[in-house]
Amino acid sequence: MIEKLNLPVLADADVVIVGGGPAGIGAALAAARSGADVLLLEQFGTLGGLATAGLVPMFAPTSDGERMIYGGIFKELNLEMCRRMKVEPWQEHWQAINPEIFKRLLDEKVLEAGVRVIFGVKVCEAELSGSRIDAVLAATSTGLRKITGRVFIDATGDGLLAALSGVDFEYGDEAGNAMSPTMCAQFAGIDFEKANAAAEQGHSDRAIWQELLEAGTAPLPEHHFVCMKQITPTTATSNLGHIYGMNGIDEFELTRGYMEGRRVVHVFEQFYREHVPGFENVTLVSTAALLGVRETRRIRGEYRMTVEDYRRRAVFSDEIGRCCYPIDIHSASTNAEEQKQVEQVLDATRFHRGESYGIPYRAMIPVGVINLLVPGRALSADRAIQSSLRVMPPCFVTGQAAGVAAVLAAGAAGEVRAVDAGPLRERLAGLGAWFR
Ligand SMILES: Cc1cc2nc3c(=O)[nH]c(=O)nc-3n(C[C@H](O)[C@H](O)[C@H](O)COP(=O)(O)OP(=O)(O)OC[C@H]3O[C@@H](n4cnc5c(N)ncnc54)[C@H](O)[C@@H]3O)c2cc1C
Repeated sequence: MIEKLNLPVLADADVVIVGGGPAGIGAALAAARSGADVLLLEQFGTLGGLATAGLVPMFAPTSDGERMIYGGIFKELNLEMCRRMKVEPWQEHWQAINPEIFKRLLDEKVLEAGVRVIFGVKVCEAELSGSRIDAVLAATSTGLRKITGRVFIDATGDGLLAALSGVDFEYGDEAGNAMSPTMCAQFAGIDFEKANAAAEQGHSDRAIWQELLEAGTAPLPEHHFVCMKQITPTTATSNLGHIYGMNGIDEFELTRGYMEGRRVVHVFEQFYREHVPGFENVTLVSTAALLGVRETRRIRGEYRMTVEDYRRRAVFSDEIGRCCYPIDIHSASTNAEEQKQVEQVLDATRFHRGESYGIPYRAMIPVGVINLLVPGRALSADRAIQSSLRVMPPCFVTGQAAGVAAVLAAGAAGEVRAVDAGPLRERLAGLGAWFR
């Protein structure tokens, strides 16, 4: 929060969304399709956030085993991406993302919906009158500019706008440790027929890595092997290795993370080429432009979701969607036992068929600000349930709900607390959202 500055206004809208990742896209499409004038501000030149600029390989499973629970915008985008990728959408499985197809699809969808997108703007301050945000300030190619609006949505994933507006937040565990990030990457030149045949004989990439670890010859102390996911006949995207001990909201730490992340990717490229059948000619094509940071701020909201909500498969009167992804807290350190535990907890907390928990609207309302909503990775939650809510399908769902709520709030002097759960849920159901 800063003193009011006399700066040129770059743009104005009823609903201003900061961040064009899953939450921001959900919000922008839902708000624009509900008739609002919507501005979507994104620091990069592409929409999709970690799904595209971050090269995260897959959408988490979209079904609770009985139905596709992330209805509305996510379902529409996922089905259309699968159609363009010429693959069957497997709702109970992880869905590979082709980032170039997805980027293009998002461009088309925002243009069709009439969302005004501004790329290359980095929001870096907020201007408030009391507890109401009047404008965000952004570094643009022509200098520092104001963007004014009635309702704001913080879809930065980092709860940045909320923090700039004075909202309290939590970070990591009691000791301030957060999940370790990963630099995702794309590879080409893979013979998947050979790789799959070897995996069936027990020689998968994961099994081979484990053998090296046990022999003490693994090139990195990495006990949590995630994935290399096929996206076209000969290419794959990786989510491998971690950058330990990094703080995702510290510029110096982030810089170290990007460099260390690229080093780790090269180590894995070498591992695959030397050890894994089918990867003899693998080539690293690209590392991600956006580092895969899993955990930063969790804002203080009107309702703080907890692991107890996960355990009791909570139902809320103001719920705007449901989530069925397990507790998935990646380790903060190279401690082998801690790393192995991640996969054990993931398996142990998996829901049975048809089970899920509700996400209340109040978890997106930050304490202390009148006209701001925070969907996506930074919403109000304890660490355990955040590790479930942070995956992309629920981020689209909370984004979509924030977009519709922002339109309703714009008609109530921007006050997000004036939005009644009844009409909000009715509109969301009309968009295909699913909740109890
Ligand atoms: C390594 C890794 C692997 C993962 N694996 C999976 C997986 O397999 N499946 C799954 O479903 N989920 C996975 N996730 C989780 C998921 O990708 C993220 O939690 C999710 O993308 C968060 O969505 P979001 O919209 O909140 O934020 P993001 O996707 O981070 O999007 C935020 C957007 O805001 C923009 N932005 C940020 N700050 C500013 C600013 N100041 N000004 C302007 N723009 C700004 C960013 O450039 C970005 O486009 C993974 C995450 C990581 C890090």
